Amino acid sequence: MIDINIGVDIGGNHIGIGIVNEQGEILKKEITDYDNETIKAEEIFRILNRFLETNNTSKVKSIGIGVPGIASGTHIDYTCNLPLSNIEIRDLVKTKLPIYVSNDANCAAIAEYQVTDNKFYNNYGFVTIGTGIGAGVILNGNLLEGSTGAAAELGHMIIEKDGLKCRCGRQGCFEQYASVTALKRKTNLDSLKEIFYMLERNESIQKAFDEYLNDLAEGLTNFINLYDLEMLVIGGSLSEYGYKYIMKLKSMILSKIYNKFTYELNMKPAVLGNDAGIIGASLLKEYKGSIYD
Ligand SMILES: [Zn+2]
Repeated sequence: MIDINIGVDIGGNHIGIGIVNEQGEILKKEITDYDNETIKAEEIFRILNRFLETNNTSKVKSIGIGVPGIASGTHIDYTCNLPLSNIEIRDLVKTKLPIYVSNDANCAAIAEYQVTDNKFYNNYGFVTIGTGIGAGVILNGNLLEGSTGAAAELGHMIIEKDGLKCRCGRQGCFEQYASVTALKRKTNLDSLKEIFYMLERNESIQKAFDEYLNDLAEGLTNFINLYDLEMLVIGGSLSEYGYKYIMKLKSMILSKIYNKFTYELNMKPAVLGNDAGIIGASLLKEYKGSIYD
């Protein structure tokens, strides 16, 4: 029999809840928007409690939750854009089911690794490029979480010493140069749609984009060098336009990479889009030790 789990994706301005089978197929999905300026933790989990009350969960084996921050066990230590810091999820969710919590980029990484790539690659890296930059790493089938759940926080790796100020308190972080926010700032344009439209028509936008791509390549090369990745998947909103830049990005990375001799770089845009968070969260059970049950 196929197992069924619930996957929850808590984002900056919405919560996505899905009933998902172990093959990663979403059987039912509910998205609720909220305002991250005014929402409270209790309200976010009230949406989940309502979902659990109004749906038949008798066959559900676990609940997996992805959060935009740092979590260990069922405790959310910190999120940067939501009032979810120092929160024990067990106190707020009315269920006896096992709950597993991880960073949202880790969840998306699991979804692409398991559902899209069928666990084919051993050293698997996923990077989400959107408002900020996040990453997930799966090594030989194991999710790399670190000692506090904050492993592979790629966005806060310094690529320029004494560079641009970052919300984490340091200067010159990768996400200050290579996030979609940084790209918009650099091109003075409001949306990716506009940026990729202008890219083919305006020389100064082309130049700005090439500089951006080079910064992106610097950070991603560090990422690949650290873990000797076999596959690197680009997720987040930038992935939608992957076909426009991925070959160029790949050749930039190949010219910078440490192992130039035997390395074959597999790189592609993510395919699961917004569903990756829900799907990956629903599969967390497989990647978490039984101590969390
Ligand atoms: Zn930072």
